[in-house]
Amino acid sequence: MEIVDLRSDTVTKPSKEMKEFMINAPVGDDVFEEDPTINELEAYAAKIFGKEAGLYCSSGTQTNQIAINVYCRPGDEVICDKDAHIYMYEGGGIAKNSGASVRLLEGDRGRITAQQVKSAIMDPSNVHYPLTSLVALEDTMNRGGGAIYSIDEIKRIQTLCKNERLPLHLDGARVFNSLVETKVDYVEYGNLFNSISICLSKGLGAPVGSVLIGSKEFIKKARRVRKVFGGGMRQAGIIAAGGLFALKNNIDRLKIDHERAIAIESAFKNCSWVENVLETQTNIIVANLNNGKSVEEVLSQLEKNQILAMPFGGNMIRMVTHLDNTPEQIQHVINTIQSI
Ligand SMILES: *Cc1c(COP(=O)(O)O)cnc(C)c1O
Repeated sequence: MEIVDLRSDTVTKPSKEMKEFMINAPVGDDVFEEDPTINELEAYAAKIFGKEAGLYCSSGTQTNQIAINVYCRPGDEVICDKDAHIYMYEGGGIAKNSGASVRLLEGDRGRITAQQVKSAIMDPSNVHYPLTSLVALEDTMNRGGGAIYSIDEIKRIQTLCKNERLPLHLDGARVFNSLVETKVDYVEYGNLFNSISICLSKGLGAPVGSVLIGSKEFIKKARRVRKVFGGGMRQAGIIAAGGLFALKNNIDRLKIDHERAIAIESAFKNCSWVENVLETQTNIIVANLNNGKSVEEVLSQLEKNQILAMPFGGNMIRMVTHLDNTPEQIQHVINTIQSI
């Protein structure tokens, strides 16, 4: 059996069809805004969520960090969950790139509430406090094991942000994993946020890139920041085409990844060495081990059977299903977990 790599949904390789589409994509100089494929991708991504404009970037870290830089001045504060990707996994970029600080909230599997946000917003008339200038959510929530946000809670947060004149940004690296499950209308969802970062290289299976979407005015500012961050690319339509192909072909099939993740979750639940599994809502499975076996032991047993998973801090192991998995691979993973 070939290696079954479940460390992340970023490990997918472009399919034959995707590669063909990429080879044939028309290209131009994107810094001059003359790459037809990138222009199409940006417009297409924006339109899905009813936004005016988009910006193709090299990574989800870049789209998030650009958005933060547009909204925040040095000394300002960003409100997010303590495990948010923008804080935990972007190398301290909020401070380093934008000189901003963070107000970290303890959400339920990374999902913060309007009530929590409300009590974290600083009074702008009091000169002692940092200025709150951004609220950022993540859906689905990676550290929360792919947890889906409730649309009603997002609506409450949006109403609050509107009243407080605060922008609301979404780290939507896996937003389609959320929306194929909740079936919330994409435009209705998009309207709740000032900006959204969408990853093309996660579950959608493109090799490179993310798109930041928002108003024309916002994207104009974001384009300037992208250039300053060294993110202006030239004939990048050749890689952007993979993203365009992914948006057109790979959204609905995410459901399959979710069904497979639930099958793996069930296998973990039957193991004596598993304390509990975070309820699997999308394509991420997080198993919390008990004293029966160590994380290292389980990972090495999996590896002996050609299966790769990720240590996820503490006693946790993470697996992520993705479009390069086959039914045989998933069965092999289930059998192996049961045999440990
Ligand atoms: C993967 C990911 C990103 C972006 O990661 P890059 O590797 O920089 O593309 C952002 N947010 C979340 C929640 C992610 O999982």
